[in-house]
Amino acid sequence: MTKITRIIKLKFVDLNRCKAQMFEQMTEENTQIANKLLSLPIKERRKMTTSKIMSELKSALVNQVIRHTTSPTGRKTKQYKVLPVEVNNQNWKLTQKGETYSISFPTLKGEKRIPIEVAFAHWQPILDGLLEGTIQGGSFKLIKHKNKWYVYLSITEDVPEVKTEKRLGCDRGQNNLAVVAPKEGFGKFFNGQGVKHRRRYFQQRRKQLQEAKKFRALKKWNKKEQRWSEAVNHTISRRIVRFAQYHNADVVIEDLEGCRGTMKQSQKFRSDSGQSRHSWSYYSLEQKLGYKLVLKGLKLIKRPAPYTSKSCSTCGVIGKRNRQDFNCPNGHYHNSDLNAAKNLAQWDGFSCDLNLKRDASVMDSSGLNHGVLGTPPNSMNTVKQEYIQLTLFLTGLDTRIPPL
Ligand SMILES: [Zn+2]
Repeated sequence: MTKITRIIKLKFVDLNRCKAQMFEQMTEENTQIANKLLSLPIKERRKMTTSKIMSELKSALVNQVIRHTTSPTGRKTKQYKVLPVEVNNQNWKLTQKGETYSISFPTLKGEKRIPIEVAFAHWQPILDGLLEGTIQGGSFKLIKHKNKWYVYLSITEDVPEVKTEKRLGCDRGQNNLAVVAPKEGFGKFFNGQGVKHRRRYFQQRRKQLQEAKKFRALKKWNKKEQRWSEAVNHTISRRIVRFAQYHNADVVIEDLEGCRGTMKQSQKFRSDSGQSRHSWSYYSLEQKLGYKLVLKGLKLIKRPAPYTSKSCSTCGVIGKRNRQDFNCPNGHYHNSDLNAAKNLAQWDGFSCDLNLKRDASVMDSSGLNHGVLGTPPNSMNTVKQEYIQLTLFLTGLDTRIPPL
């Protein structure tokens, strides 16, 4: 069993003004104490006890501040603008009455029980898990965000370890934001057309705002785009995880690190927001996919990018790719993104020779504009490349090599 810790956000339901003010006051007091402690040398801070600190805050909370200022993060800090009140796991309690959940903890006016709800509906089972004891609650912080008060609670849960040999390949690109597929069988496509369209619209408005020098509105606009793209990535990653669970398989993706520098894309495509590889947050998708898989006991495996979309997933020979179409010299036809995903799903133990990379870029030809991320240059019919192909697929190779 592996343990995973995350933070969930709980919202206070109908918090009255009086309590909101009290939270404000508590946070102020908390910050003051922390800053006073930070002015002391670390040795003295370690000797501090709650009895030496005059405060309206309950000693349990003051204790947490002392602990914080002697912790590694606290030691690095010079001064706090705001330090949220922290309540450790022994000082709060979750209760349920009917449909309502409440959390009780020490405040300025004694122990208070305040009704809460989860900020996102899919966290609901976590509250039940906390009540049943299947999920452990850690400390929480009292945080104000956009004039609303929240509890940021850290929770730890056991995740079943899934042992699997199966793999799904996940290829990311523009025409399809992602394509997931097992070695054999049907894949899943996440079409990028809608996203492309929306990105162009965002870009257009951004340009207008920039020209009109409306910087405040521009900032808002950018944030809006960011929230939208995050939501898209959440959706896609969630669906990929579901697909992976259905197949009981780990997910293999291309390692895109440094792809911005090495990927070729003409200026015309770069400046078009719908096409540019630079502005879509593939990294964020990767991160989300990573942690969501871990929660289900599955793994995200990274593989170096070159050649995944140039080889035929049926026979392993380098073929020709033209936009959505992939044709191999042996007559196999594939959708190019699906082909790349299938390659990733069956690819094992291949590492690209550096010399080869250099040679290949000399032989570079057209057709890159529509290639997926990290696509190696297009050059078939070279003996050298055929040779490379043989080392590419170590699994199930013998039956697949066509006679040269
Ligand atoms: Zn083929």
